[in-house]
Amino acid sequence: MDISLFNNRAAYEPLVKEINERVGRVIESGRFVLGPEVEAFEREFAGYLGVKHAVGVANGTDAITIALMAMDVGPGDEVVVPSYTFFATAEAVCHAGAKPVFCDVDPDTYLVTAESVSQVLSDRTRAVIPVHLFGNVAPMGELLELAESEDIAVVEDTAQATGSSIDKSSAGTLGDAGTFSFFPSKNLPCFGDGGAVVTNSDVVAESVRVLRLRGSHDKRNFFKIGFNSRLDAIQAAVLRVLIPELDGWNDLRRQAAKTYLDLGIEQYLVPQQVTDGTEAAFNLFVTKCDRPDRDALIEGMRDAGVETRSLYAKPVHRQQAMQQHSENIELPVTDHLAEKNLALPMGPGLDRGSIERVIDAVAHLD
Ligand SMILES: *Cc1c(COP(=O)(O)O)cnc(C)c1O
Repeated sequence: MDISLFNNRAAYEPLVKEINERVGRVIESGRFVLGPEVEAFEREFAGYLGVKHAVGVANGTDAITIALMAMDVGPGDEVVVPSYTFFATAEAVCHAGAKPVFCDVDPDTYLVTAESVSQVLSDRTRAVIPVHLFGNVAPMGELLELAESEDIAVVEDTAQATGSSIDKSSAGTLGDAGTFSFFPSKNLPCFGDGGAVVTNSDVVAESVRVLRLRGSHDKRNFFKIGFNSRLDAIQAAVLRVLIPELDGWNDLRRQAAKTYLDLGIEQYLVPQQVTDGTEAAFNLFVTKCDRPDRDALIEGMRDAGVETRSLYAKPVHRQQAMQQHSENIELPVTDHLAEKNLALPMGPGLDRGSIERVIDAVAHLD
């Protein structure tokens, strides 16, 4: 494929030598799991986001499970999640022992709103997980207001929005906790699996630290059933090299999004609308395709050397694994987005020429 959907590689290519050196130092140190490299990463990542604590964990899915458990969300509790998201958001709720309750999303921003969450609240609801989908940021003001009046926790699934902000605050820092993934296709990638929980609460941070280490402070006394879910030092070393690059990369993503608009993408497709006050980090540039033959368009684009994809074409509430949590629910906007969405190539290395080619290919197939 000439133009791939995700292309992080071009961005970190110039840094490979430095990354190799830093990884070499970790190998010499012999400290591979947690330790000083991970602690330094946690300080630097918290500093970057402007939040009190960051705690490194094994991946973005564990980050959600552990964040919920750190707030004592578990069996008997309901957690509101969108269905139009990656499967992991709801999966993580189940791992915590709670029940995912699916809500619909806004048709233009693809995000949960106070209204969509309100529709599925019950007296068992203990938390809501807004997902900052594709780098767009959910309307945190109204969601926090709702959460406060209903006395429920807010865990922001920020896996796709590292470096996005809303009203000048980093996505992931406004709720009771925020969770991040450093999977290679995310905005801040590592070279394997990695994740983090961030929070301004000392109590939640301490609880997350214990849960990632099998429910222990010292690996000798265990007072909770936890996880073996730790960030390793090699990934932390990679991430420490990349954090200072992230804002620049996200600027390039925003420029690419603007170029799509400037070059007239809206003649053919309807782009995801950015919420008010948001600086979106565009993990992907996702649109709605109003033609009946979206999948034929994806094929045609592939023949033209352009990788596009429909994301979450089978939304989470329609997955077999979620059957017992999806009985008698109707999520019309989610189904509509699942059927119509089309993700276009996006990344810090995507130049104007490539975007012209993507749009030419769409126009040709129109
Ligand atoms: C990637 C992703 C996750 C899970 O992260 P992993 O590191 O792959 O476990 C969770 N939620 C969303 C929205 C994601 O995109």
